[in-house]
Amino acid sequence: DADPEGGELARERQNHRHHAETEGRGRFDYTREEFIAKAWEWKERYGGQITEGMRRLGDGVDWSRERFTMDEQLSRAVQTIFKKLYDADLIYRAERIINWCPRDLTALSDIEVEHAEEAGELVSIRYGDADTAIVVATTRAETMLGDTAVAVHPDDVRYRHLIGRTVALPLTNRQIPIVADEHVDPSFGTGAVKVTPAHDPNDFEIGRRHDLPALTVMDERAVITAPGPFAGLDRLEARSAIVAALREDGRIVAEKRPYLHSVGHCSRCDTVVEPRLSLQWWVRVESLAKAAGDAVRDGRVQIVPDSMTGRYFQWVDDLRDWCISRQLWWGHRIPVWYSPDGDDACFGPDETPPAGWTQDADVLDTWFSSALWPFSTLGWPEDTADLRRYYPTTVLVTGYDILFFWVVRMMLFGLYAMDGAVPFRTVLLHGLIRDAHGKKMSKSRGNVINPVDWIDRYGADAVRLSLLQGANPGADQAVNEEWVVGARNFCTKLWNATRFALLNGASTDGSLPPAPDIADAWILSRLQAVVTEVDALYEEYEFAKIVDLLYHFAWDEVCDWYLELAKISLAGDGAAATRRVLGEVLDTLLRLLHPMVPYVTESLWTTLTGRETLVRAAWPVADTARADAAAEAAVADIRSIVTEVRRFRSDQGVRPAQRVPARITGAAEAEPAVRFLLRLDDPGEGFAPTASLTTATGATVEVDLSGTIDVAAERARLTKDLAAAQKERDLNAAKLANAAFVANAPEAVVGKHRDRLAAAEADIARIQAALEALG
Ligand SMILES: [Zn+2]
Repeated sequence: DADPEGGELARERQNHRHHAETEGRGRFDYTREEFIAKAWEWKERYGGQITEGMRRLGDGVDWSRERFTMDEQLSRAVQTIFKKLYDADLIYRAERIINWCPRDLTALSDIEVEHAEEAGELVSIRYGDADTAIVVATTRAETMLGDTAVAVHPDDVRYRHLIGRTVALPLTNRQIPIVADEHVDPSFGTGAVKVTPAHDPNDFEIGRRHDLPALTVMDERAVITAPGPFAGLDRLEARSAIVAALREDGRIVAEKRPYLHSVGHCSRCDTVVEPRLSLQWWVRVESLAKAAGDAVRDGRVQIVPDSMTGRYFQWVDDLRDWCISRQLWWGHRIPVWYSPDGDDACFGPDETPPAGWTQDADVLDTWFSSALWPFSTLGWPEDTADLRRYYPTTVLVTGYDILFFWVVRMMLFGLYAMDGAVPFRTVLLHGLIRDAHGKKMSKSRGNVINPVDWIDRYGADAVRLSLLQGANPGADQAVNEEWVVGARNFCTKLWNATRFALLNGASTDGSLPPAPDIADAWILSRLQAVVTEVDALYEEYEFAKIVDLLYHFAWDEVCDWYLELAKISLAGDGAAATRRVLGEVLDTLLRLLHPMVPYVTESLWTTLTGRETLVRAAWPVADTARADAAAEAAVADIRSIVTEVRRFRSDQGVRPAQRVPARITGAAEAEPAVRFLLRLDDPGEGFAPTASLTTATGATVEVDLSGTIDVAAERARLTKDLAAAQKERDLNAAKLANAAFVANAPEAVVGKHRDRLAAAEADIARIQAALEALG
């Protein structure tokens, strides 16, 4: 992930917070220069912690190319594209309604506003008297001071006679017009709306259509400036004071409290956003957004998972002009200068504004510079070799939560700056990491996990592996300390498997044996199938499925079965061949696991092979000639027989290490492996079986347990187990026979009793068979 601005955004927020909390009012206590110096200090200190975390996690990054959007070269790129857009009339300055944070004193883009349902109030107010009386409703009564009209739908018969007339605005001495506007919804409320062009985005549009004045009644801190008794009050104080005054005047028709409605909050500081008429810089996005939409529509850029493509179109197809100016100090300053006479001009990085001109005080939205990332980091605007080689990039990996913030903006500017060439071919969106219960991590919940703590405890490989275990494209994932423990255990398993291979002389050099035995042929066959599958899953970015596949192949097939089967030939004539196959299996497995478990595999692989480094070793290539269906079927038989007989032995009370004489029929070539893995001795003379089992594969295994177990004690044990199982069966059968219980209990509870009944019945059958087998 190379999201440069998630960090930068957070950094500025931290700056504000840090200074606000420890040193008073934040950036307003410093001069601009002092504040920027402090911000750089902060960046040096904390920026390093982020990259240190990446290094510890083993990120495979070309650190020589580390860039920061405030670097000199990237700043040149920012100034260059600003001028290019400005000269093409794609950047303009205009007074518009913007989202404004009265605490941070800055404009916010729509996406920097977080909406939440809140209990407010809805107050219905009567404007005018007698024949001009008209009722409007509002959740922000204080804005009435800035009303410059009342609007109704042109076809609304209730108000048709009022259109064109004026009405007295309460608490003021102003008359305001009643206008007809198609955008008013006659079915909502009274069908009449108050119009405050300077403090509401929809009203601003109505105001433009009807040429209404925009009256600003609050300052940048949301303090009332309209002359009169409310001047100097904060917006919330003003709200209740104005409602009280209207009530006294008999103007309040209805009050609804609490009234649930959506309220926008500043994503930096959570203050309620105040829409505000303000002079800002804008990017005219229409033509840029069209190009960005087309590039995905015609397949030049692919979004993974495909289900996120719709969300992309929602953004680009309905994009409004982008407010790029911010009233902050930390950031790229708007490269526009003003003359003492009021002229203005934009200057590029190599141009010098005339003496006496002053630069615009605002900085650019942080996403403006991040939008240039795919080419500014490669040397643009110079035509560099890097730019020619690496633009467009192959895959961009980022979180779906910044699809709009970052991906859309890179598309807008990439296509524009690079003459229609897309910035990347594929956008891979990952989800957010949540806590073990699937809850979003937040400081207030106290469920934030610092991955570095887990790295300290379990190692980077375990943390990476457990993160990858949940990494399905576009989906959020939970993390849980237990899973990290499981991942560490897997690393230990790999360690033990490699140690076994080394102790048994595994070899990774020379060609593979031309005629491997069944176990070797089977594992080589499986190995090539696994390589093929892993390759296919990488093409689909299915990292969680790759982990699952490799985890089970390594643990269940290689460690649990192959290493056990290999012991047979390692002790006999086939040792040399098996040593080579054993080496091949581990060599390939470690290569396949390396991107996910880099540290452990690097260490194990270099020890196993004696070669320099796994990082630069070749990726395995599947050799389909090694596919061997017959060997796979034969080993499947061995596994089936061994599993069944192992359970049988255990049911008979035979300890795993105990050797037992046995006669095996119908197992064919599986017999030596079965004998070895189950510790079954040859029957010998006078063999008298005390128990027998026929497996699903048709093999029969007869054993003589007379010398190995105390039959009487074993029978007593089994009889006791049988009684317990019968009691369990009867209990659950009785529950399920109770019609009232079955009808009223939750389905999950009833299901649990059904499962327990079935398990008890299976236990009874198994114990009875064991008792019978004892004779
Ligand atoms: Zn704020």
